[in-house]
Amino acid sequence: LLLAYEPAKRLARLQVQMERAAVNARMIYEILDTQPHQRDKTGAAALSVTDARIEFRDVTFAYGSNPPVLRKLSFTAEGGQTTALVGPSGAGKSTVITLVPRFYDPAGGEILIDGTNIADVTKSSLRQHLAYVSQQPYLFEGSIRDNIRYGRPEATDAEIEDAARLANAHDFILAQPQGYDTPVGENGVTLSGGQRQRLSIARALVRNAPILLLDEATSALDTESEAAVQQALDAAMAGRTVIVIAHRLSTVVNADKIIVMQAGEVAEEGTHESLAQQPGGLYARLNNLQAASNGPHNIQE
Ligand code: ATP
Repeated sequence: LLLAYEPAKRLARLQVQMERAAVNARMIYEILDTQPHQRDKTGAAALSVTDARIEFRDVTFAYGSNPPVLRKLSFTAEGGQTTALVGPSGAGKSTVITLVPRFYDPAGGEILIDGTNIADVTKSSLRQHLAYVSQQPYLFEGSIRDNIRYGRPEATDAEIEDAARLANAHDFILAQPQGYDTPVGENGVTLSGGQRQRLSIARALVRNAPILLLDEATSALDTESEAAVQQALDAAMAGRTVIVIAHRLSTVVNADKIIVMQAGEVAEEGTHESLAQQPGGLYARLNNLQAASNGPHNIQE
């Protein structure tokens, strides 16, 4: 029975992974699309952002007819601060991030930015204020410059280079055969994982959006790339409202607020110091596991 069950389980897992990859690709294409073609509510206004404070208020969500993935989830990501989402696999962290650009709408509750329900504004105005950096950076066919410009089509060459500098990418770009005009993607030069990540961070930086949604990479980079990517991320996060699915202990420790999720609910919330001291708490247990494994990665699970 076990033998018969295993492949089916693996297939089901693969199916979920493929669906998630599709959502990720949509995030990248659509979040950057300044004129999304989905219908807005009649009379929808443009979102105006002041502090870029994000509030989830009793948000309930289910994929189709599946059981709810988020259950009356409430938390606030304060303007200009970093809020880290941690918790076991399947807790609903990626789903939270997917709801902000409105790839899906909640079944109940509301998501507010500076007090405005995002269901009431145009999607294009909402997404203009968002940037997204995924775990697996996607490079399009085209030059390095095109790939960064994708973040904001009207960006000037100078703005692209500024973003690349901030993202720690300028020097390696200049070292490519044709500098910023070097083709990447399937028919272009092969870049390392760390270089691809820095390009995708430059793409987010050139948007200059007040809100950054970040799915931190789990895959290990070599120490040098790791430091370069971390510097780039620090630049991208500075002064922005960041919601990060955190995999590195350092991200969690430095976050202004940690939301510990479990089964679609907020299990605990606080800073690293306050949560680590809650005896028997989920975070304290996750944190101990991390310390025991002694690895620099993966605070999740
Ligand atoms: P992980 O750390 O493994 O990425 P997570 O905390 O980010 O997990 P989610 O990816 O939000 O959790 O998933 C929450 C639940 O929703 C899981 O049971 C998952 O299988 C399911 N799920 C996620 N995306 C979809 C989808 N597109 N269609 C159907 N179910 C989905």
